[in-house]
Amino acid sequence: FDSLAATDPEIADVVLGELDRLRGGLQLIASENFTSPAVLAALGSTLSNKYAEGYPGRRYYGGCAQVDVAEEIGIARAKELFGAEHANLQPHSGASANLAAYAAFCQPGDVVLAMDLKQGGHLTHGSKVNFSGRWFEPVSYGVRQDTELIDYDQVRDLALAHRPRMIVAGATAYPRLIDFSAFRAIADEVDAILMVDAAHFIGLVAGKVIPSPVPFADVVTFTTHKVLRGPRGGMIVSRAEHAKAIDKAVFPFSQGGPLMHAVAAKAVALKEAASSEYQGYATQVVANAAALAKGLEVEGMRVVSGGTDTHLALLDVRPLDVTGAEAERRCGAADITLNKNAIPFDPAPPATASGIRIGSPSVTTQGMTEPEMAEIARLIGRAVRAEPGTGSGDADHAAVAEAVRTIAAAHPAYPRD
Ligand code: PLP
Repeated sequence: FDSLAATDPEIADVVLGELDRLRGGLQLIASENFTSPAVLAALGSTLSNKYAEGYPGRRYYGGCAQVDVAEEIGIARAKELFGAEHANLQPHSGASANLAAYAAFCQPGDVVLAMDLKQGGHLTHGSKVNFSGRWFEPVSYGVRQDTELIDYDQVRDLALAHRPRMIVAGATAYPRLIDFSAFRAIADEVDAILMVDAAHFIGLVAGKVIPSPVPFADVVTFTTHKVLRGPRGGMIVSRAEHAKAIDKAVFPFSQGGPLMHAVAAKAVALKEAASSEYQGYATQVVANAAALAKGLEVEGMRVVSGGTDTHLALLDVRPLDVTGAEAERRCGAADITLNKNAIPFDPAPPATASGIRIGSPSVTTQGMTEPEMAEIARLIGRAVRAEPGTGSGDADHAAVAEAVRTIAAAHPAYPRD
């Protein structure tokens, strides 16, 4: 860090400012986490300099002996951890992994059946502003209005009606377990490829606290930076029969040179995720999300689908007479970072939304457990009820921010020096 501060004090200030933000507040964004110093060391290494187009032993550049070792170790660890026949560590992000999976199996214009963005799906699941909606023919399924759980009857009906080339299971804002065997049965019935976008929950699969999609799916894509706690990036695991198609879809179809520092950092994260300590972490992530959801219900919010089986919960904030956007803003005023989120059948536009999404990966990495979750839920309730711009509201936000600082200081995200 000293060399960065000497060369570029402005950017050094940003890095320190972000560190202070993390240390001084509570991070409840469900898709974020705090990587280990070992992962950060690999990310900040000279492997960033190396061009390595191709795959280990089959590169288009010389000098790849060392990076080949890193990628081979990472591939072996991914296969072992997920019980997969093939792994590709090169996707630069979750969206890049999804683009590669689409490219491996579909042609432009093919029908892809995936979860509706408004009900928890991701942009890459068929949004018109994304490649998935522009180059493919998206058909969307959602959740049942009464249970707010995936409507498997609707998935089957749509599959039979539209005969998709590929079915995508997985979501960005779905708090419950997904029935992969039901998706497999539907995919088999219509002869479709089953892709599972496991970005959100793959860390819980790695930690062996929720069922794995790997035995059911043709291909599983995911990000490496969420519960899995690796560097920002993507990964794909698949059946051996699809290995060639997947690898070609990543390079040379959709990417050039891999980010070898990130590939090495993914290998480090996979080693960490195979440890018993990480299994304990994953177990606590789920327990903490449940405790947060329960606490927020006590504060008057409605828990979408009645609970959570994972690292995240969706809360309908309308009972507190605020929008999701306003709840996000009020929490932000008290140094609690979370995001507004549409809830199923949300009457409000996405920019306002009626819900918030909370996640436990970061606070669990900090070592917090159920008692802190109960306290955090109380603080969120207080922050959301406090009206900014009014004397008592502003005082409440200041008081909550002070309590947040005390909790965060007792469980620092990273050291300052
Ligand atoms: N798929 C799902 C389900 C996601 O939630 C996300 C990101 O949040 C992605 C894909 C895309 O990942 P990235 O932001 O790394 O491109």
